[in-house]
Amino acid sequence: MHERIPHGGQVAYFSMEIAIQPAMPTYSGGLGVLAGDTLRSAADLGVPLVAFTLAHRKGYFQQHLSATGLQTEDVQPWSPEEFCTEEAARITVAIEGRVVAVRAWRYDLAGLFGHIVPIYLLDTDLEENSGWDRGLTDHLYGGDTNYRLQQEIVLGMGGVRMAKALGLRVNVFHMNEGHAALLTLALLESQLGGGPLGAPAEADLEAVRRTCVFTTHTPVPAGHDRFSTEQAIRILGSDRTARLEALGCFRDGLLNMTLLALRFSRYANGVAMLHGKVSQAMFPEFKIDSITNGVHAPTWISEPVQKMLDEQIPAWRRDNLYLRNVIAVPESEMLAAHKRAKEELLAEVGSRTGLVLDPNVLTLGFARRAATYKRATLMFTDPERLKEIASKAGGLQILYAGKAHPQDEPGKALIQQVVAEAARLGNDNLRIVYLENYAWDLGARLTAGVDVWVNNPRRPYEASGTSGMKAAMNGVPSLSILDGWWIEGCIEGVTGWAIEDGADDLAEADSLYSKLETAVVPLYRDAPEKWARLMRTTLAFNGSYFNTNRMVKQYTRNAYYPERLPQTTKVEEAAYAD
Ligand SMILES: *Cc1c(COP(=O)(O)O)cnc(C)c1O
Repeated sequence: MHERIPHGGQVAYFSMEIAIQPAMPTYSGGLGVLAGDTLRSAADLGVPLVAFTLAHRKGYFQQHLSATGLQTEDVQPWSPEEFCTEEAARITVAIEGRVVAVRAWRYDLAGLFGHIVPIYLLDTDLEENSGWDRGLTDHLYGGDTNYRLQQEIVLGMGGVRMAKALGLRVNVFHMNEGHAALLTLALLESQLGGGPLGAPAEADLEAVRRTCVFTTHTPVPAGHDRFSTEQAIRILGSDRTARLEALGCFRDGLLNMTLLALRFSRYANGVAMLHGKVSQAMFPEFKIDSITNGVHAPTWISEPVQKMLDEQIPAWRRDNLYLRNVIAVPESEMLAAHKRAKEELLAEVGSRTGLVLDPNVLTLGFARRAATYKRATLMFTDPERLKEIASKAGGLQILYAGKAHPQDEPGKALIQQVVAEAARLGNDNLRIVYLENYAWDLGARLTAGVDVWVNNPRRPYEASGTSGMKAAMNGVPSLSILDGWWIEGCIEGVTGWAIEDGADDLAEADSLYSKLETAVVPLYRDAPEKWARLMRTTLAFNGSYFNTNRMVKQYTRNAYYPERLPQTTKVEEAAYAD
């Protein structure tokens, strides 16, 4: 499957956050993990790709929770010097009328067969910059919208100039979310011979459009960066602002980064089937496709399950499609591998909290950013019913984790509510634990070690969700709302269960409880062999599809190099004709 696509240039992938490795706090959550998994699969497949992001020297925050669940935050400083090589190339960008110098740190991400995907972390911490400018690449999603727009200039415009200074030959620019949209402005200026002045002809716009593709990641309005005209004029300059306005990149009087990205992209997509449709409805004047997310299999499959796979179907590493053959692995192997992953998780919980949990008890996992639409407290809608389920199941353990953005007060309040409910409802049958500082390593342990992964967002706000895919890779079924990836991944009773759509939170909580009562608990308690078969079909059906190897191939064929498709067959031609 070493699919090196022959051509003259490279794809440059731009992302505000990338989860490069657990020791580098350069990501916040799903978007960064997806970016990292994309690059890991590109490296495994030999796709000629380079990536640009910011150094984020102060990292994303470390979360502390008090006994009542009150979140406080610490910076997580790290040193690019320890992990990366400094490039000699330097470039500058104009910010608020100042000239800001930028350097790049290179991290070489090596794939399965040694192919390297270089990641360039842009850094303004240079002596020639002012104190403020030196801090521009410090905090991921920190500061206010002024800080954010300045960072986006460094990422988008700085990245394009750095690619040139490094001598890279890029023929596709991939904007992973709107944060990178200003790269289009840098490309346009380069097309026009530099500088912010001059009227672009349609051919100039088209030349930029030919090289750009864009992925949007959320239907939540707050997830789309917008800046006021005043901010744009002050930070970008009046010429550039006037040009963006003339090009139709303002909506409701605000510079809209999603709109900017769409205006200049020849291809745009959402991250799951439904999300593509929802995005299309938000921006009806553009064509928005969908490519469903995945996760990088060897990054998220636990060691015991990897060992089982290596023994039973060694080809899975080379080609994730072979995960489908898990269907022939003995049930006992699947159960034994998961049992070890569960023990490792419970040991981790023990060392973090001092709590001794029971490996024989049904254990649910719920870990994600504490955003209100994800409804972390839905499970507590009817506490008496939950207690009864726990008692009938012969015990129930529920593990929670997740950070709230430092400025998200409603999100922080949700964490406190879960912690309060955990204390109030906990008894011999029901154990509820909120684990501190959800990040890569804890995420991997949780998705691999619980028995059921729960997700109950308010539809349609979960664009994709990827944690349930990590669980599936480990044979762990999901119990989820039919939103994001789960619409495509749910086969009732085979890969997990759907929480049925309801008129309101009450109705959906009712469905969550009744699925636990009628499907999950009886199967887990009374039919271990059937449970093992369910785990096996979960891994076989969903592991073989919801991986980034499949996803990167789809980007390559549909977004990056559609013209390089193998000969279209007659059948396909007929199908596309209407
Ligand atoms: C996978 C992952 C996420 C994304 O999970 P969702 O299901 O999209 O919420 C967030 N944070 C961490 C640490 C992860 O590993």
